[in-house]
Amino acid sequence: MATITVKPKDLVDGFEAAGGGNMPWQLIERGGARGLIVGGAGDIDFQVFAANGDSRGLVVAEVELYGMPHREIWLQGHKQGLYTLNFVSRTSGAVVFFMGVDVVNEVEVVAAFYYLPGVRKKFNVEQIVKKVNAIWNRSANVTIKSLGMFDEGLGQRLDINDPEISLNNTKHLSALIDYGNHASANWHVYLGWGVQGNIPGETLGSRTIIDTVRRKETELAFVSHTIAHELGHRICRAPPSHDTQTGDLMLEKTRDGTNNKIRRPRVRLVNRPTP
Ligand SMILES: [Zn+2]
Repeated sequence: MATITVKPKDLVDGFEAAGGGNMPWQLIERGGARGLIVGGAGDIDFQVFAANGDSRGLVVAEVELYGMPHREIWLQGHKQGLYTLNFVSRTSGAVVFFMGVDVVNEVEVVAAFYYLPGVRKKFNVEQIVKKVNAIWNRSANVTIKSLGMFDEGLGQRLDINDPEISLNNTKHLSALIDYGNHASANWHVYLGWGVQGNIPGETLGSRTIIDTVRRKETELAFVSHTIAHELGHRICRAPPSHDTQTGDLMLEKTRDGTNNKIRRPRVRLVNRPTP
């Protein structure tokens, strides 16, 4: 029998090839669809199995190709859930291959950004949000909705006299809450001052501080990358807090801010459909 191969039609984000004992895996936004190119499957019927028993939540549609060695199928995610797509041999009736499919709802993070007092280097928040969403959106169906940048905070003056801040310092934390605590936000991002420990950013619960003192004004991409990484901490529901493979967004240390991969284990820690 021909070897079955599965490749994404056009979007690599949210697709994981077979490897390391795992079958291929595809993430689909609820209401969205992803295309797959399937090779060696001339004898195959596709069959959906749902962890919650309702297999109608994932629909397989096939594009009729003429005279092609492969098949093109589109997986439409109608209902969030964990699915298995079985490849059933028409000849033997046996399942000869399978892959995992997660259909996930959108995780929307409503973010308020605040510049801390005295900051002169400023970055365009719309551009930051665009870059962060480009990393998270198609890989994990996570989207930031920005309430905007609040240059002077929202409440009191920032009552901190130390040169660098840390969220683990309870005085700093409560001063930051007094300074900016937008009632509609579930993520508060403070930019501009140095972060203790010479790290680019720090997150505790729903609050993040981003060091822009050590950044040049031209380093919008690096700052956006740091915010994307810290968003990972904001929404992660269980340990581990960092990943270890080359290119992972959630590497503990970044060299140049170009690592932005969000692989299946991380997706499942931030946006796992409940079966
Ligand atoms: Zn981190």
